[in-house]
Amino acid sequence: MLDTPSARFAYQADGLTLVTGSPLAVAFPTTTDGVAGLVRACCAIGLPFLARGAGTGLSGGATPIDGCLVIECSRMNRILEIDPVNRTATVQPGLVNAQLSRQVVALGLHYAPDPSSQSACTIGGNIAENSGGPHTLKYGTTSPHVLSIEVVLPDGSICTLGRRDGHSVGYDLRGAFVGSEGTLGIATAATLRLVPLPETVCTLLAPFGDLVSACEAVSAIIAAGIVPAALELLDDRTIDAVEASVYAAGYPRNARAVLLVELDGLPVGVAHERARVEALCSARGALDVRVARDEAERLAFWRGRKGAFGAMGRLAPDLYVHDAVVPRTRLPDVVARINAAAERHGVRLANILHAGDGNLHPNISFDRRDAGELERVRQIGAEILEICIAAGGVLSGEHGIGLEKRDYMGLLFSEADLAPMRWLHDAFDPDDLCNPGKMIPQPRACTESNPRHREYAAVEF
Ligand SMILES: Cc1cc2nc3c(=O)[nH]c(=O)nc-3n(C[C@H](O)[C@H](O)[C@H](O)COP(=O)(O)OP(=O)(O)OC[C@H]3O[C@@H](n4cnc5c(N)ncnc54)[C@H](O)[C@@H]3O)c2cc1C
Repeated sequence: MLDTPSARFAYQADGLTLVTGSPLAVAFPTTTDGVAGLVRACCAIGLPFLARGAGTGLSGGATPIDGCLVIECSRMNRILEIDPVNRTATVQPGLVNAQLSRQVVALGLHYAPDPSSQSACTIGGNIAENSGGPHTLKYGTTSPHVLSIEVVLPDGSICTLGRRDGHSVGYDLRGAFVGSEGTLGIATAATLRLVPLPETVCTLLAPFGDLVSACEAVSAIIAAGIVPAALELLDDRTIDAVEASVYAAGYPRNARAVLLVELDGLPVGVAHERARVEALCSARGALDVRVARDEAERLAFWRGRKGAFGAMGRLAPDLYVHDAVVPRTRLPDVVARINAAAERHGVRLANILHAGDGNLHPNISFDRRDAGELERVRQIGAEILEICIAAGGVLSGEHGIGLEKRDYMGLLFSEADLAPMRWLHDAFDPDDLCNPGKMIPQPRACTESNPRHREYAAVEF
């Protein structure tokens, strides 16, 4: 247990540094019983608590409210069982995502969900956020890859949601827990689906003279019935940041956008799709279409994309990685409006898109010590959401709601829509001790009558 000022400082936020809180202490359990004991102790004295993985979340999910207990799961990082016949792995929640694929590659298997933070983020955090990644387009987000979850409920009891064989009946509480942002309990183990490594992988890099043409190529590829494993887009400002950094991948500096297309599957099918993708990109004005000649070049293409957030770390002390989704065909118009808003607000913004999913990440470089700049960043953050919702989009593609977007849920859901979410929450956590104040806005009547809710609702983004 750590309760020093430096520990409280280190755990004051996740990857969203716009909002901070000061925990009472940080605990590092190593077993399910250890987690249950901590939760029961919190319940006994009415102390709020929250689970934390690696703290790479980008919506304030692991940001503590003042005075709560942080239960850090990173020491619960073991693989408990690998079952190659049924293609499953049972792991503890603190296991780092990329470790799992590394451990099963010799069996010809991998764990498909691949957030760009996969070398640091944990399976517990991935489950809580229903994380996606570049390969979500073909393989889906975390949820379909989670068969069952052992959970310490907010009263300290232990249960299993779902079944290891995937044949669950009754309410799909496994599904409800995935993406619940740590508000329904603490995952202490999970059985995950492993998928075979594809026989062939082919990665193409297509630079374009403008972002609109690149977006049109994305829509054309999907319209042609091709489902690439990944379809990623970087704008010119991202290309500049990447190429000036240690993640330089040889992206052409004269391009206004770079499209990364990954195809995988059986060799014959991949070869056929590769020819069609090349033709579709060329027809939409690609300046060039390069195909990775070997694994080294494929990894180099990806190095720029995977390192893009890190590359932006050189531009300013803080980075706000925004996240929203719009219908794919609206991407050019939405990105143009976001760029115009950035110019109007005088903020530095670069775009990375999981374009195949219509998921965009406008990245804002800033210095939070500058109060004026901080305020402009908050304003454009809100404006980006309004632009995306107006275009038929939603609040988040993969980073979750957390504190960042809690108070915008009303843009998407009516009070009647939010009510069942609150009922579900209250069924799991009637005392509101488990990661309180996140994701679901409190109804006005509730915040007025309940001092605790008033306090949580006051935690502002
Ligand atoms: C550079 C960078 C790139 C990123 N790229 C992606 C991406 O491609 N796709 C994507 O989806 N996200 C991405 N993210 C966001 C982040 O990595 C994910 O949300 C990730 O799943 C968080 O995992 P974590 O272990 O860091 O969790 P934390 O940040 O520690 O926690 C996140 C949430 O999970 C809850 N939680 C943690 N452990 C448990 C547990 N055992 N039981 C219950 N709840 C728990 C916390 O309470 C919190 O609400 C990126 C972040 C960074 C910094």
